[in-house]
Amino acid sequence: MSAHPVPSDVTVLGLGPMGRALAGAFLDAGLRTTVWNRTPGRDRELVERGALSAPTAAEAVAASGLIVVCVVNYDAVDAILRPERVAGALHGRTVVNLTADTPDRARALAAWAGEHGIRYLDGAIMTPTTTIGTPDAVFLYSGPEELRREHRPVLDTLGGTHTHLGEDIGRAAAYDIALLDIFWTAMAGYAHALAVAKAEGITARELAPFTQGIGAILSPTFQELAEDVDSGTYSGEENPITSSASSMAHIVHTSEAHGIDAGVMRAAEGWARRAIGLGHGGDGFIRIAEVLGRH
Ligand code: NDP
Repeated sequence: MSAHPVPSDVTVLGLGPMGRALAGAFLDAGLRTTVWNRTPGRDRELVERGALSAPTAAEAVAASGLIVVCVVNYDAVDAILRPERVAGALHGRTVVNLTADTPDRARALAAWAGEHGIRYLDGAIMTPTTTIGTPDAVFLYSGPEELRREHRPVLDTLGGTHTHLGEDIGRAAAYDIALLDIFWTAMAGYAHALAVAKAEGITARELAPFTQGIGAILSPTFQELAEDVDSGTYSGEENPITSSASSMAHIVHTSEAHGIDAGVMRAAEGWARRAIGLGHGGDGFIRIAEVLGRH
């Protein structure tokens, strides 16, 4: 292990599917890549490809100037980084934390890092492991711009697009939360739709070609509604909330007639009814975003 880290050295802490993908991309780029994982043995394939296996997190940290952390959540990050030996080894080095968690946790970790002389950049990965090292990968960062700039040559070897969202350290996590809110709500909708379809004798494969059309509508709709929300117009000319609420009620009734929990749709219908009750029945569905945000 090098006592004098050079910029082409990188350490990856955490070798779940994403950590392994990140380390693999660094290796493919020819970087001297040191890896560590809590449970030993997960680095076997990476070591065969040239990675250096560190026996402890502290030794992994000491091997490189740039430490990339990617584990399940910030409890795991804390468990790895905060012990004294590791925190001491991190002094003066840069941590790029690509673990997903909440904006508050990112801010708390950054404060701790600052107290320990650790340079800290937070980040989020918005695409699956298979995109890492390809043009499809999407990385978000927040925190000191100078750190992003300094480590850009190494981080860019992960492929795809890398966007720095500003100095507020919690911003990448905030984007991550908002985007995952869309993803998981959509996935919950898909799982629910499959259950209702099955109860009506429709297989997932039969439904699949038509789900593509629904998916295709969403992206342009999101773009269009972003304009509405930021300008506060909420145009409901084509499709007022009253109509959306009625459509959602049909889904609730059909689900419940089959004994299928309709809690998610009931909640969404409830938001729509609340907006209508507040006098926004003629507005578009996305008025809900404004109503939900009222305190
Ligand atoms: P997981 O989210 O399952 O994380 C697994 C890793 O976390 C392993 O290295 C595991 O170590 C480690 N870990 C868990 N608990 C602890 C602990 N208490 N102390 C130390 N290490 C711990 O797998 P992924 O690799 O898929 O995800 C990593 C991060 O990347 C997550 O935040 C995830 O949200 C994010 N992400 C993942 C994507 C994906 O497609 N997989 C896509 C976009 C983001 P051990 O092996 O010892 O259990």
